[in-house]
Amino acid sequence: MMPVAFFGHGAPTNALATNRYTRAWRTYAAALPPPRAILMVSAHWYVPGLRVTGAARPETVHDFNGGFPRALFDFRYPAPGSRELAERVMELLAPARVLRDDGWGFDHGAYSVLAHLFPAADVPVVQLDLDRALPARQHYQLARRLAPLRDEGVLIAGSGNLVHNLELAEFGPGVRPSAWAERYQERLLEFIRAGDHERLIDYRANGSDAKLSIPTPDHYLPFLYVLAQQRAGESLDVLVQGVEAASISMLSLGTR
Ligand code: ZN
Repeated sequence: MMPVAFFGHGAPTNALATNRYTRAWRTYAAALPPPRAILMVSAHWYVPGLRVTGAARPETVHDFNGGFPRALFDFRYPAPGSRELAERVMELLAPARVLRDDGWGFDHGAYSVLAHLFPAADVPVVQLDLDRALPARQHYQLARRLAPLRDEGVLIAGSGNLVHNLELAEFGPGVRPSAWAERYQERLLEFIRAGDHERLIDYRANGSDAKLSIPTPDHYLPFLYVLAQQRAGESLDVLVQGVEAASISMLSLGTR
C-alpha cells in the first residue's frame, strides 16, 4: 500500500530552493516505495467542475506573476502524464463527471514540491483539480472514492498550505509568525493526532483563528484529499512544520 502525503508548498521559489522544508520533502520521498504514478491535488488548480490532466507530456505552467527570478520562468518539470491513471480516476469518481483536460499541465503547487520529491521527473503525474463549486465535505467524500489507488501503487499527494493568508503576509528578514497562525497550526495538529476528521472537514466551525487561517478554501482543500485516505491505525506524521511570512504554515504530513 502506498503512503499518502500533504505538502505545505509556500513560495513558488521553493521549486529551486534548498531549505529545511525541501530537505524534509526529499528525505520523505527517499524512503517511499517507488510509486507507479502520482496523483497530485494542488491548491492552484481551483476551477469550476472536475478535471484531470490527460496530456502525455503535460506543460509546466508558470502560474505566478512577475517579480520572480528568470530561472523560475525557465524551470520545467518534464514528468510524463498518464492517460491510464487519468481514466482510472474518472472511473473511481463516477458518477461524478470528470473532464479529461489535455491542454492543462502542472502548476507551481505541484512542481515546487515534485521537483524535490522526484527530481528525476521519471514518475508519471496526473493532476486532479479542486472543483470550486463543491463544499469541503464533498471534496472529502470524493477523495474517499480514490482509496483503491493506494493499493494500485499510486502515490496520492496534496499540495497547499494549511494556514494561508496572503493579505496578512509579511515578507523580508526577521518576520515573526503571527500568534493566530501558530495557534491554528497547533490546533490542526491536535485534530490530526486525534484522528478527528470531522473538525478538520468542518473547519468553518473552528472560530476566529480558522477564519484568519483559511480565508479561502483553495490551499486547505488539498489536505482533505490526503486526510480522506487515512486508514484505521494509520498515523499522519509531521514531516516538517513552521510558519513563514507571518501567515503561511509550511506544515507537511505523511503516512509511512
Ligand atoms: Zn500556493
